[in-house]
Amino acid sequence: YHAKQKEEAISLYDPAMTQALMRDQQMAERLTKALDRGELLLYYQPQVDLPSGRLIGAEALCRWHDDEWGWVSPAEFIPLAERRGLIRRLGTWVLSEVARQLLAWRQIGFTLPGRLSINISAQQFADPDLASHITSLLATVPPSAIGLELTESDFMRDPEQAIGITQTLHNSGFSLSIDDFGTGYSSLSYLRRFSADTLKIDISFVRDILTSHHDQVIVQTIIAMAVALGMGTIAEGVETQGQAELLASMGCHQAQGYLHGRPLPASAFTEAWGEHMRKSPGIGH
Ligand code: C2E
Ligand code: MG
Ligand code: MG
Ligand code: MG
Repeated sequence: YHAKQKEEAISLYDPAMTQALMRDQQMAERLTKALDRGELLLYYQPQVDLPSGRLIGAEALCRWHDDEWGWVSPAEFIPLAERRGLIRRLGTWVLSEVARQLLAWRQIGFTLPGRLSINISAQQFADPDLASHITSLLATVPPSAIGLELTESDFMRDPEQAIGITQTLHNSGFSLSIDDFGTGYSSLSYLRRFSADTLKIDISFVRDILTSHHDQVIVQTIIAMAVALGMGTIAEGVETQGQAELLASMGCHQAQGYLHGRPLPASAFTEAWGEHMRKSPGIGH
């Protein structure tokens, strides 16, 4: 009877499991190929001051277009890269691509005001040589031009270790944001000890902020915490003028979302935001 039951369980669940594993395996192979061939892309999403709308930076977001599958969401391929041991390679590519792009912009007379933010995954964060690795990859870029984003849950995985690493990164001149803030479980005492300067309010609290009293209270609390700790806040996923106005009135003066601009390839980004970037005389002429 038990054997029979087991057999049924296998025949019921195995095909789905096998399919998921096969997709995982296939995707890892295709992502490896895309990395080999240099087919990944970075898009850039503006970050603005509220209420002026002035450009204060951008976030680099990884994009992958597969010949057969079309666009694959980073929400799928980033966790896969983490599971399959590809994230360091991907992260290294992101850093060198960012350095290349900033230099390319400079050569045509564009300087991004503020900081260009890069997402760092937990596995990169755990690397004790992260700071020197980033510094050498960025070579020509001053650390003050770079922001590193780590999710709240990555910070909290090993908070004591995170305190040390953030201190090193901070001492190297990078600024740090705590991404998706409000979804993890950090305590005030840890927040105070992380050398991070910005809390990035998670999109899930911004989405319904106009109608949800609950979300308003959470956002107000996050902003109060940031003020108490001497940190800044930026809201992600701002899509409407109403959201932007409410956030600004609550004391959050930075936003990133479709209202101000979608993530764009570098050339489209400079077309849309070039007026905010046209500063440096350019080094290539
Ligand atoms: P994230 O770092 O929290 O990035 C913000 C996400 O919100 C992006 O999704 C962005 O496209 C999206 N977003 C921005 N404004 C709006 C809006 O107004 N409405 C809505 N609905 N969404 C908005 P994306 O590009 O799909 O990236 C998803 C996640 O994948 C990122 O979340 C980040 O955790 C990860 N990721 C992306 N690129 C990289 C990378 O180069 N390295 C690493 N380690 N992770 C990355
Ligand atoms: Mg981010
Ligand atoms: Mg985020
Ligand atoms: Mg998010």
